[in-house]
Amino acid sequence: MSELVLWNATIIDARSASPQERMCVTVQGATIAGICAVEGTKAPESAIDLGGRFLMPGLIDAHIHLGDDPAMVGDLAIPPVLKGEAPRNRELVYFVLANAARAFLGSGITTIRDVGSYDDNAIILREAVRLGLTEGPRILACGRIVSATAPGAVLFKSMYEEADGPWQIRQCVRNQLRRGADYIKVMAGGARSVVREDPEPAQLTREEMDALVDEAHGLGLRVAAHAEGLGAVRRAVEGGADTIEHGLSLHRAPELLDQMARRGMVLVPTLSTFHDVADRLADRFEPRLVEQAKRQREEAYRTLLAARAAGVTLAMGFDSGPPGADALELVRMVEGGLTAHQAVCAATIGSAKALGLADVGAIEAGCAADLVVVSTNPLQDVAALTRPSNFWMVVKDGRVVKGGLAQLQ
Ligand SMILES: [Zn+2]
Repeated sequence: MSELVLWNATIIDARSASPQERMCVTVQGATIAGICAVEGTKAPESAIDLGGRFLMPGLIDAHIHLGDDPAMVGDLAIPPVLKGEAPRNRELVYFVLANAARAFLGSGITTIRDVGSYDDNAIILREAVRLGLTEGPRILACGRIVSATAPGAVLFKSMYEEADGPWQIRQCVRNQLRRGADYIKVMAGGARSVVREDPEPAQLTREEMDALVDEAHGLGLRVAAHAEGLGAVRRAVEGGADTIEHGLSLHRAPELLDQMARRGMVLVPTLSTFHDVADRLADRFEPRLVEQAKRQREEAYRTLLAARAAGVTLAMGFDSGPPGADALELVRMVEGGLTAHQAVCAATIGSAKALGLADVGAIEAGCAADLVVVSTNPLQDVAALTRPSNFWMVVKDGRVVKGGLAQLQ
């Protein structure tokens, strides 16, 4: 079995709010085998000397959409069709996805949860990574988003599968498992990006939500619920969803936050998406949606603090782009009032909890060896995590996928 010894690391993880200096982490195969204090002043011959650099669990983005939308993939976008050129082949999207996968790894993001993509993009990329056809992060996919018959399905087409009534909903859940889903994503309420949807009320009836959660959990699948307004959030929380996506109205209902904390539900605040619709991409959205997003952004920041005060686990969900810039969400969390350590916890142990993965997001013996080494202390400058050049080394499943050994050789 291959062995990797990371010597003289300063460990930053959820276990301690202050960095642990002069540590040594041993990786055997794909797993962290042990952690100990450094002895002496010279690294053993077989070890990689981190020189006191900061060692963290690989970052986890709990809310992304894999695709080729130029506004979301930036420099990775397919060049626009020029007049006179034939339309682009649809399959070019797979090269964009492969490049995105590498961009995630290069920015220290070793796990992503896709919360809805066109044409099963996420499942296809997950399989390509699993089969070693392309380098990429661990990927969790939901298949199609389960939605009641709704205007959003006209816009989001193959990202959605519509179902109404408890039995259709159950079949829809089963369909996603058949398709290759790792978990279920459901629209508990309308989307802020659709003119003809109201994000406030629930879109599913109580019976439909109960049926969805019961069917998913019965099949061993977790449930991520898109819920913005209070009606939607209430339906999702009371129905027993495992994660609440966006959830910006929760500050208005402390009793729901208490319930989330008690039941171990995770909130994925996705602050960045509100900045997108309100500012960055405002010229692409219908004006009323832009105004709505400005109000929602304010609410999302309030909910961030209310959720922390209630003891609700927070996760990092960028819901934006380009791939690899995900830690911008952490910068926003800190601007919103979290400590840098709380933001780092959201991106590691918090997101791991959101995904239902017990063996990532921590530096502990027995955990998957998904590790990143950063040159700048992220607890002093969380924005350091947004700069790929700061990632001195990235290890996924015990394999060095960036820097480190390769740099030394
Ligand atoms: Zn989203």
